[in-house]
Amino acid sequence: MRPALATIDLDALVANYRWLQEHGKPGRTLAVVKADAYGHGAVQCASALAPFVDGFAVAFLEEALTLRKNGITAPILVLEGCLAADEYAACCAHRLWTVVHCEPQLAWLEAHARRGAPHPERIWVKVDSGMHRLGFAPEALSGVIARLERLAVEPRHLVWMTHLACADQPKHPHTAAQLERFAQALEALPERYAQVPRSIANSAALLAWPAAHGDWARPGIALYGANPLATEPLPAALTPVMTLRSEIIATRWIAAGEAVGYGAAFVAERATRVGVVAIGYGDGYPRTAPTGTPVAVAGHRTRLIGRVSMDLVTVDLTDLPESVGVGAAVELWGRQVLVDEVARAVGTIGYELLCHVRRVPMRYLPATCTAC
Ligand SMILES: *Cc1c(COP(=O)(O)O)cnc(C)c1O
Repeated sequence: MRPALATIDLDALVANYRWLQEHGKPGRTLAVVKADAYGHGAVQCASALAPFVDGFAVAFLEEALTLRKNGITAPILVLEGCLAADEYAACCAHRLWTVVHCEPQLAWLEAHARRGAPHPERIWVKVDSGMHRLGFAPEALSGVIARLERLAVEPRHLVWMTHLACADQPKHPHTAAQLERFAQALEALPERYAQVPRSIANSAALLAWPAAHGDWARPGIALYGANPLATEPLPAALTPVMTLRSEIIATRWIAAGEAVGYGAAFVAERATRVGVVAIGYGDGYPRTAPTGTPVAVAGHRTRLIGRVSMDLVTVDLTDLPESVGVGAAVELWGRQVLVDEVARAVGTIGYELLCHVRRVPMRYLPATCTAC
């Protein structure tokens, strides 16, 4: 059997969640499991987190329904909200929390109410505090709450939320400006809305912006042990959940001046021992990874050489012990080589690499710390 494999350490996932949950206190913490839990398997991850979680967040309705069908009963927030009028019925039937971020969603909610249906249990009203992607302008909020009041949506059914554009760059002035604009928008509302909970923080803000913790944090990437921050290391308590691994399936020596792989893109400067690894871009390892991208072989850090092909990559074994040959374990990313290091070499972010893993079997290491 082909040795390529993604191992998902559910114990690490649970420990990461509990650390983030503690860090965000007294606020509560939604575990973001959109995009199939950033490529880790949403049902498996949500099931492992279920005993501990304050709630989950996904991007759209179908992702929430998948969790419900698989026995997840915790609150689930749909971050993009409903994308058509009829989705409110499904939201209510499955007790989903929904974001309302634009005028058409309000109009669909009104149409839903005209059919005599109840409104969703919790409505998270999204304010555009400066990212300019989703959300109501601060000036529109009083009109939004007037319409919600007509639907019998009371302050206790609401959460105010916003999303930060630059939280990954600690000290970026944009974040302080967004926090200020969000606070001002909410201050302008009637007194009876003063106690409505607030939600601001993604992983980066939860780690680096205490002022943004709010009542509900929404960490995604940090749950999976990857780093949202551009310039700071990840806290040591957070460990990588996914290990993408395979094995060496062939080795050879090439002389100085000989090339390796498609495009003859790597030319050896010295006699070089090449290891061929059974993984490639067909599995989600990025084709754009250049020569020099870190990789660990039998516990030794070395480098990728030559182009990534669909099923195979080639690595430099020259300075490794001769005993490292066919069958040696190769970690593409995990605890020895952080996914963020590979992402940096490629010019992307860990999020994208994790989401793109495919074709390889996923093996789940069960969560054992239910009693801890
Ligand atoms: C994806 C997402 C998050 C989680 O972001 P991370 O950077 O992965 O922590 C939080 N909030 C919203 C609105 C999102 O879309």
